[in-house]
Amino acid sequence: MQIAIDGPAGAGKSTIAKRLAKESGYIYVDTGAMYRAMALYLIRCGISAEDKEGIEKACEDADISIQYIDGEQNVVLNGENVNSLIRTREVSAMASSSSVNGKVREKLVSLQQKLASSNDVVMDGRDIGTKVLPEAEVKIYLTASTKVRAKRRFDELRAKGEACDMEAIENEIKERDHRDMTREISPLVQAKDAVLVDTSDMDIDTVVDRIKEIVKSKVKA
Ligand code: C5P
Repeated sequence: MQIAIDGPAGAGKSTIAKRLAKESGYIYVDTGAMYRAMALYLIRCGISAEDKEGIEKACEDADISIQYIDGEQNVVLNGENVNSLIRTREVSAMASSSSVNGKVREKLVSLQQKLASSNDVVMDGRDIGTKVLPEAEVKIYLTASTKVRAKRRFDELRAKGEACDMEAIENEIKERDHRDMTREISPLVQAKDAVLVDTSDMDIDTVVDRIKEIVKSKVKA
């Protein structure tokens, strides 16, 4: 069973996918975390987002894998668990820039497909329904208005004690959306057979219930 959830940053994908995976007994695969681990490696190596050759070379040296600890996905970069280091704004920006690179995508898509070939999965990202799991039984395109997504991100950062500015976050989100939606390889688009769910005015429980309904109807069909 494969449930693919795609959508822009801050739409609520990971929260919803995690809940859904837990309730169904499937594994949750957060593909954004893999692009973030790759980005962290690039930052540590001092490679700029514009250095195509440097990124491609780094791709060969970065060993990225996934471990599940107490049911939680942990990303391992060259033997180091980097889960707590990949949620910064610097890593977000680098992940968005470096994920346009074909070699980066090839490497990570192959890891994602491997995970889905031996497990029932709820996988979230930008190209899951269109590229990674085109045969997924259920495809959801989760979105929300830019303002709502920026507010969610703002609250998240503030809860972590990070100083942040609402307007700057909204601009960062717009920039990432634009890059993700207009890149040449596997841009973020709603798959033809994906169901659109706009979470702007929904709380988490309502979204989870709506998606469970969609899963039920797809499985029945
Ligand atoms: O989902 P998250 O915000 O953690 O993803 C970080 C970045 O990784 C995104 O902005 C996007 O550029 C990239 N990404 C991608 N394809 C995926 C998942 C994430 O290009 N399947």
